[in-house]
Amino acid sequence: MPIDPTLEYDDQNIFAKILRGEIPCRKVFEDEWALAFDDINPQAPVHVLVIPKGAYVSWDDFSAKASDAEVAGFVRAVGHVARELGLVEPGYRLLANIGIDAHQEVPHLHVHIFGGKPLGPMLM
Ligand code: C5P
Repeated sequence: MPIDPTLEYDDQNIFAKILRGEIPCRKVFEDEWALAFDDINPQAPVHVLVIPKGAYVSWDDFSAKASDAEVAGFVRAVGHVARELGLVEPGYRLLANIGIDAHQEVPHLHVHIFGGKPLGPMLM
């Protein structure tokens, strides 16, 4: 079920549990600002999720409340992961589902990185 982005941050959401180490993940990268791990249900040969370490539900929430250092750290982590996975050439796709219309399922901000094959045109 998609989440209501107006809800308060729920620290029992699955990505909060992954961040606390209560649930395992296949970690790709971690630093002070972000954690990246393989999506449990990959939709492409490379399908990695990058999440900020802070408690943010959505992009609008994050961009309004996070410090400049958190925003920079998260953005840099996404780029770092793409480079480390060798995706810069021939390319990759970033996606963030936000809120009900986008069918966001996990109420902790996450960016999907897709790659490893030609991805075709962006579909709605
Ligand atoms: O729709 P949304 O962008 O919220 O997608 C959530 C993603 O989190 C899905 O791609 C799902 O496979 C992934 N997921 C995961 N590990 C979990 C729970 C969900 O990788 N334990």
